[in-house]
Amino acid sequence: MDGVSPECHRGAMTRIDADYLVVGAGAAGMAFTDALVDHSDARVVLVDRRSGPGGHWQEAYPFVRLHQSSAFYGVASTLLGGGRLQEHGPEAGLQERASQSEIVGYFDRVLARMLQTGRVDFHPNSEYDGDRTVVSRISGARFEVPASCRIVDARYLAPSIPAETPPPFDVGARASVLPVNDLPRLEEAPSQYVVVGSGKTATDACVWLLGRGVDPDAICWVRPRDPWMYNRALIQPDPAIFLGMAADLMQSAAGSASLEELFLRLEEQEIMLRIDRDVTPTMAKTPTLATWELEHLRTIEDVVRRGHLRSVERGRLTFADGSVEVADDAVVVHCAADGLKYPPLVPVWRPEAITVQPIRSGFPCFGAALTGYVEATRTDDDEKNRTCSPSPYGDSLAGWARMNVLGTRSSMAFSAEADIREWGNGVALNPVRVPDGYPASPVLDDARERLAAYTGPALERLAHLM
Ligand SMILES: Cc1cc2nc3c(=O)[nH]c(=O)nc-3n(C[C@H](O)[C@H](O)[C@H](O)COP(=O)(O)OP(=O)(O)OC[C@H]3O[C@@H](n4cnc5c(N)ncnc54)[C@H](O)[C@@H]3O)c2cc1C
Repeated sequence: MDGVSPECHRGAMTRIDADYLVVGAGAAGMAFTDALVDHSDARVVLVDRRSGPGGHWQEAYPFVRLHQSSAFYGVASTLLGGGRLQEHGPEAGLQERASQSEIVGYFDRVLARMLQTGRVDFHPNSEYDGDRTVVSRISGARFEVPASCRIVDARYLAPSIPAETPPPFDVGARASVLPVNDLPRLEEAPSQYVVVGSGKTATDACVWLLGRGVDPDAICWVRPRDPWMYNRALIQPDPAIFLGMAADLMQSAAGSASLEELFLRLEEQEIMLRIDRDVTPTMAKTPTLATWELEHLRTIEDVVRRGHLRSVERGRLTFADGSVEVADDAVVVHCAADGLKYPPLVPVWRPEAITVQPIRSGFPCFGAALTGYVEATRTDDDEKNRTCSPSPYGDSLAGWARMNVLGTRSSMAFSAEADIREWGNGVALNPVRVPDGYPASPVLDDARERLAAYTGPALERLAHLM
């Protein structure tokens, strides 16, 4: 918002004429708006209760990075990370992965570009109250949008993060429990760290502690579930690599008798990774992990698998079936927020709102950008819904299969539209694009042939197994 009009004081209600009110300036709202304004003359009001764009990244822990390539993240108009490869370190040769400050800076630049169009207004620190009304959390001023303005719900899948979610266990008065964000602020090393959580945040915390020289035996990892994770080396914006991985996945899915067997096959092919080969994972949110991280994680032997932690007292962790002793001065690191969300799938286009959700399996930024493009280029909501149906995030193995079945079917539907195919091939967020000028090769041909041959049978098999 540029400037404050005199009538915008507490309690006063103004009206803003806009075609769209986008609620949430996280990756979903930014990617939707960017594609919408690039392909139409729409006027957009973008609101967020936070003080700037970027969503949960504003409150992320300082050592977080994208788990996958920068090129797959952000908005369609502006490549994050410039397509650079990492030159040094254990991931040399892989695409770069942006840090928290890089992501937040990127979204600031993307917002500036949007504002320059003169068709986008941004209202930070502003809460959407429902009923087409927004209230400033700072001045109390309110505005409403007319009935003709479409509401875009770009917060439907906003993840919950430890910095903003209390620990899901009781904390005794003398226990030392901190959210992962506070880990780098410790002033004195404890004799033991207890990391609580099974997902990407917990793996990041463990890798960070080990990288700071903490003895693996000084880490106790409370891991209620064991996760399957994609091998980062294969989730790369390089068509031969990505499509080769997708072809292997479809071929394996077509020939597997159970989801457990499928994941083991994918592990043999080095597509999926698990931390402990003696434990069958039940969790499949499938972030990416690098093999150097895997090696680090495997050095932690004190893993507590007793379900969810109920409470923490000084020197003791309590579970449903009993207690585990830890050091008196142990620091318990809360990495146990839900992260990804699993609300019911709803049609993207409904009269009450456009609800931004992933369309192809995973890759939420691509889904949001595609939704913006389709909204800009089509008028009939039924047609838009037929073209782009939503796909959920994975959590369990069955959920992962559902994500792939729905996401792949949806990809087939939108790819049948020539203009979407052309648009998608120019957008780096799209993991299956083959950019103009990308060299032909037998590896790429083979991947395409196998995808053509196995996708149908794989979807049938996955639909049966899920
Ligand atoms: C640590 C972490 C790492 C991740 N890494 C990746 C990755 O590498 N690649 C990937 O594809 N995905 C990743 N994800 C998955 C995640 O889905 C994406 O990061 C994506 O950024 C989520 O964006 P969002 O816009 O849906 O949610 P958010 O970023 O949470 O944005 C939603 C916004 O809506 C605002 N809001 C909510 N309600 C209101 C209201 N009533 N009024 C006004 N504003 C409101 C919130 O303030 C928030 O800023 C990661 C997630 C986490 C937690």
